[in-house]
Amino acid sequence: MPIDPKLPYDEQNIFAKILRGELPCNKVYEDEHALAFHDIRPQAPVHVLVIPKAAYVSWDDFTARASDGEIAGFMRAVGAVTRQLELDTPGYRLMVNMGGHGHQEVPHLHVHIFGGRQFFHMIC
Ligand code: ADP
Repeated sequence: MPIDPKLPYDEQNIFAKILRGELPCNKVYEDEHALAFHDIRPQAPVHVLVIPKAAYVSWDDFTARASDGEIAGFMRAVGAVTRQLELDTPGYRLMVNMGGHGHQEVPHLHVHIFGGRQFFHMIC
């Protein structure tokens, strides 16, 4: 079920548990701003999620409340992950689902990185 992005941050959401080390993940990258790990149900040959370490429900919450430094650090981390995965030359797709219409299911901001194949028009 998509989340209500106006609800307060839920410390029990699955990505919060991964950040606290209470649940495992298949880690790809970590720095002071972000953690990246393989999606448990990959939708492409490469499907990695990048999440900020701080508690933000959604893209809307992040862009409204995060400092410029946090936003820059997180964006740079996404770039670092795509370069580490050597996706920059063939290319890749980024996606953020936001709220109900965006079909966001996990209430902790995450950027999806898709790669490893050719993508065409928008996916539904
Ligand atoms: P949607 O499921 O509609 O894509 P989201 O953008 O909220 O909604 O994506 C949540 C993503 O988190 C899904 O791709 C799902 O497979 C992934 N996921 C859920 N639980 C885990 C987990 N424990 N480890 C890694 N990925 C997970």
